[in-house]
Amino acid sequence: MKELTMDEFVDRMNTIARARKIFIKSGITKNITDAFTLYQEVLADHHRDVFLHTYVEGSHPKTFVDQNYIRPQCPECRSQRRGKQPLYLRIINMPKGPQNMYGYKSAWICMHPKCIYEEFSYKTLDDWMNTLPRKNPNIKVEKKRRKG
Ligand SMILES: [Zn+2]
Repeated sequence: MKELTMDEFVDRMNTIARARKIFIKSGITKNITDAFTLYQEVLADHHRDVFLHTYVEGSHPKTFVDQNYIRPQCPECRSQRRGKQPLYLRIINMPKGPQNMYGYKSAWICMHPKCIYEEFSYKTLDDWMNTLPRKNPNIKVEKKRRKG
């Protein structure tokens, strides 16, 4: 059996956690083995790099929503007593396909270095802007509005 480095071990643990979050929380399966198998088949390797890590790694300029709206807080960090960590909204432009199997439109991610919380959603940027409370409702912001 191959011995894992610490980095490889952490990566695998994170992979399992992601599989659990994506497939079990979404109700696709309740079985962690099935979830992990699905994850490996669907999202692992290059796919994980493109689809998931894009949102987690690198620099993160604040988006319009991050700056102007009251965002949900990370439930994982709350339960781990890391303090209030507002989640960051990332818009997924990748169309439904092999790299975005379920056609997710957005993802809330936690930036805390010890946290891997990610929550995928079918809501678009407009949906979130219509749903989330504004930080300062008095400042006018240009956004698309439905007529009528
Ligand atoms: Zn968190």
